[in-house]
Amino acid sequence: MQITDISWCTYSWNPVTGCTRCGPECENCYAERFMRRQAKRDDAPAYMSGKAWTRENENEVVTCHPDRLDEPLEYSYPDGPGRIFVVSFGDLFHRCVSDSFIQSVVDTARECPAQEFVFLTKRPDRAAQMEIDWPTNAIVGTSVGSGPGGEEPDTTHRIDQLRGVDARLWISFEPLIEPVGDVDLSGIDWVVIGGESAPADERREMEHVWAKAVYDQARAADIPVYYKQDSGAKPGENPYLTVQDPETGVFKQLEIQEHPDIPEVTQRARQEKENVGEHGGRR
Ligand code: SF4
Repeated sequence: MQITDISWCTYSWNPVTGCTRCGPECENCYAERFMRRQAKRDDAPAYMSGKAWTRENENEVVTCHPDRLDEPLEYSYPDGPGRIFVVSFGDLFHRCVSDSFIQSVVDTARECPAQEFVFLTKRPDRAAQMEIDWPTNAIVGTSVGSGPGGEEPDTTHRIDQLRGVDARLWISFEPLIEPVGDVDLSGIDWVVIGGESAPADERREMEHVWAKAVYDQARAADIPVYYKQDSGAKPGENPYLTVQDPETGVFKQLEIQEHPDIPEVTQRARQEKENVGEHGGRR
């Protein structure tokens, strides 16, 4: 486990690494680029493969790490309790990951109620098919980057699939590579919006009006929104959404960094740790 630069969470935990491209947003997958680059180093661990994340290479590039399952139980949490992004370098619900391994990951989350565990998959159909007893300190999300009628395949069907998961739910509209149109956000607890991070000649630029359209729908549904970034060379570039005041026509930049309420079980666990002076943290 480690502290992460991803602004909407605090730590990342990767009991699974590697994946297979499965949608239009995967074209410039940051995790694939990073892992393939790292694999070239002389001291690269054996599980890192330099091969492309294609179906034919899946057995080589997808690795489950049983030795990492207990990391959240043992970690020092140098920034105090927080949000843990589960599998930022792959997809927990990839078909190369067994049901029992997925269950073990969820079990670890349950054993750490002082932390919030943020799951994200582009395979919500599998997550919905599995009978998982999700703990309330977990929130499960899917990515939606394109809508109907665009040049890329529509990914909005993942929202309906996600609704089959019996947990708190969120949608990552990142990278938003096309307008997604009107989406059904019923049952969704959190929305994140952001552009693609990739070199200029490869990235697909997000227009702010597309992001604003998602923002407006989330606002209308009273769902907390986190605007992460514009399209840019690196993650986190310009974390402001540009909107135009409909009455004055004046443009302004909004910093929107909302999160869903911290679950009660997590609040209680943090309070208990606080009472016994157990919190680490760089204070
Ligand atoms: S699903 Fe995620 S991790 Fe897997 S290839 Fe696509 S972007 Fe990369």
